[in-house]
Amino acid sequence: MDTQMLIGSRFETGTEHEEKILNPRTGETILMLPEASEGQVDEAVAAAEKAFVTWSRTTPAERAGFLLKLAERIEAEADGFADLEALNCGKPRYTVTRDETPAVVDVIRFMAGAARVVPASAAGEYLPGYTSMVRRDPIGVVASIAPWNYPLMMAAWKIAPAIAAGNTVVLKPSEQTPLTTLKLAKVASEVLPEGVLNVVVGRGESVGNALINHPKVAMISLTGDIATGKKVLTAAAKSVKRTHLELGGKAPVIVFDDADIDSVVEGVRVFGYANAGQDCTAACRIYAGGKVYDKLVADLSSAVSTIRYGRDNDDENEIGPLISERQRERVASFVERASSAKHIEVTTGGKRPGGKGFFYEPTVVANARQEDEIVRREVFGPVVSVTRFTDPEAAIAWANDSDYGLASSVWTKDVGKAMSVAARLQYGCTWINCHFMLTNEMPHGGMKQSGYGKDLSIYALEDYSVVRHVMAKLG
Ligand code: NAD
Repeated sequence: MDTQMLIGSRFETGTEHEEKILNPRTGETILMLPEASEGQVDEAVAAAEKAFVTWSRTTPAERAGFLLKLAERIEAEADGFADLEALNCGKPRYTVTRDETPAVVDVIRFMAGAARVVPASAAGEYLPGYTSMVRRDPIGVVASIAPWNYPLMMAAWKIAPAIAAGNTVVLKPSEQTPLTTLKLAKVASEVLPEGVLNVVVGRGESVGNALINHPKVAMISLTGDIATGKKVLTAAAKSVKRTHLELGGKAPVIVFDDADIDSVVEGVRVFGYANAGQDCTAACRIYAGGKVYDKLVADLSSAVSTIRYGRDNDDENEIGPLISERQRERVASFVERASSAKHIEVTTGGKRPGGKGFFYEPTVVANARQEDEIVRREVFGPVVSVTRFTDPEAAIAWANDSDYGLASSVWTKDVGKAMSVAARLQYGCTWINCHFMLTNEMPHGGMKQSGYGKDLSIYALEDYSVVRHVMAKLG
């Protein structure tokens, strides 16, 4: 197992606080991992700064060549990455090899190609005797800070566009899930030039804080909580750093009376509970039309009660545990507070199962109202609320009445209605008759307090680069 950080071309062990890295399936300790010192963070930033001088001047084709090699190496070691991700996150291993490592490899390949075809910019004589051109150039050292729900995939979403655009990176995984990122550091060190990718480990309050406040960091890219996003903005304000923030969600799912309820149930059973609901796009907040509400609650509750987890044979599991006991307590307390209201009915789940690991029963909270905490706040666990509506206008207003603005979905057989509702939803993404489907060609990112800046697609490359004007006097 790779346990050392990558600073320039050196592998180093942290010298500070030791973090207990757990297996959430069993609650057992995998290893103790010391975090980086401030000095080590400094050295990582210095290595990235030094590498920027040459990396930023490579051609897109050269950078693409390096990224394609990196993708190939990750693909070749996909089994090793899957073993570690399953161990450190508790995910069923087959879900990593089926859904995550292919997406990791593909985003790197996509960015390798996209870097070579960044859309052409205006060039011409806008003042007589002068030729102007627009350039898209890299920004500098990017501090990339990742969460624990998809550690390797979030690392790839961050480093692929940043590096493809000519930046260099210091990446910090979540203190809870560093293992696949440390393996990535090893693989990357064998492929990328020294200093292009550096990896430091440790807690947000210490190592993360040192990174976001570092004067030589030009841009901070965070996927995490809204509260952390606000800290990033405060730190960034001191030296006016660029920021790229992906900060959670509370996805509304509007189900009209004419929707195909079987496919809604099938969709929400998967996309409300995948990764144990620890997903910022999870289909967690249903608004159901009055005519289908009862059937939807009954069918969904019975479907959700069959979700398999916690079995010894991992191939039979559909979801894993929550990431930590703390996260399980947080989820449980949301459900306990919700069920203390008279109007709420927990139709399935709602408990911590016995046995080892940080599991929580897949849960449906019915009769929820717009003002309920369970409808308004991100639970980040296997919990879906259902709220009845009679007036479609109210459903749209409720869907938009949220601090979050990442993902949403609309379910109806009427394509015209779906399109006009989609146009009115204030979310970075709206799916129609599906949910949670991502593709590397399309942007992913939020509005409102879900943050800004896009992951994936050509828009991510734009976010990790700066538009510049160069003008030449002719003659
Ligand atoms: P978190 O904000 O606690 O941690 C995210 C990262 O930020 C970790 O690496 C952490 O160490 C670091 N961090 C924490 N405090 C910091 C500080 N003061 N300075 C610098 N870095 C700091 O979030 P989490 O609990 O790891 O992840 C769950 C959250 O991430 C959820 O809210 C989820 O919705 C969100 N998320 C969003 C997206 C998206 O695309 N919008 C994707 C995945 C997860």
